[in-house]
Amino acid sequence: FEPSVRYLLRDGELVEYADAKLHVLSTTLKYGVGVFEGFRAYWSDEDQQLYAFRVADHMRRLIDSMRVVEIDGSRDIGVLSEQLLGLVRANELRGNLHMRAQVFVDSSDGKPEDTGPVSVFMAAIPMGNYFGASGLDVQISSWARLSDRSMPPRVKSIANYQNGRLAMLEARRNGYDAALLLTEDGHVAEGAGYNVFMVRQGRLCTPPATDSILEGITRDSVLHLARNVLGVDVDIRPIDRTELYSADEIFVCGSAAEINHVSSVDRTPIGDGTAGELTRQLQHAYRQAVVGRVAADQQWAQPVYPT
Ligand code: PMP
Repeated sequence: FEPSVRYLLRDGELVEYADAKLHVLSTTLKYGVGVFEGFRAYWSDEDQQLYAFRVADHMRRLIDSMRVVEIDGSRDIGVLSEQLLGLVRANELRGNLHMRAQVFVDSSDGKPEDTGPVSVFMAAIPMGNYFGASGLDVQISSWARLSDRSMPPRVKSIANYQNGRLAMLEARRNGYDAALLLTEDGHVAEGAGYNVFMVRQGRLCTPPATDSILEGITRDSVLHLARNVLGVDVDIRPIDRTELYSADEIFVCGSAAEINHVSSVDRTPIGDGTAGELTRQLQHAYRQAVVGRVAADQQWAQPVYPT
């Protein structure tokens, strides 16, 4: 495996790709204790600049995740954000990127209740489309989305990801591109790495943050773009499975996944299988927002290189 980047970051220090290691007896490896973030940066040919998207908001969620799963260490959003951008500059990356921050409990002989010592790794890696296809055939999973009674779905705890993984493997085995999971009581929650929106009876709708979803930053961007750029109201309300079958448009969204339309749910076609009108408008607005062309007042798109 030839890594395409030279450096990763460990606790703020540059380390060679091959040296970014964790001990096999660490709590993280034994018990899945850790949290992470995934974000993107977008290259603009026009500006000859790389823009990192909503870095501070991701770092804020990383710190929330640490608090919820009780991992030690006070962290500063500004310091973490500057470390990540510094890593991108050190690797001299100019192109679309996926960036990661991963927080591990790096004890020498881990116990499940360990809260430290903590190691923070960061990486920035070139990345194109997340889904091979545009237009997803989606299966409603037989796995329920984990519930806040047992695990914290709203934060990015690495242990949560077994849930989406099993749903994704089931969907792939059955010939689908992606899975959507329902809550324990049957409401639409989200996918393995993406939130979901639908357009039905002329209304844009998405599940509330209390229906076992990760509080997605792309979801938040879509809410803002719909309301403030397109002038479209959004209903944040519980969604039933059968509403999806009768929806006019459905799309999923995430930092890695971006905004991708759903062509069918359980083989029931959605619209004519192509991206619907509102989905296309939101995709366009999002592509503009990530390079600071719309919603510029939000300061979401941050230049990586000196201007
Ligand atoms: N749900 C889950 C389970 C995820 O892992 C992700 C990806 N972080 C999302 C939703 C989308 O969140 P965001 O837009 O913040 O990337």
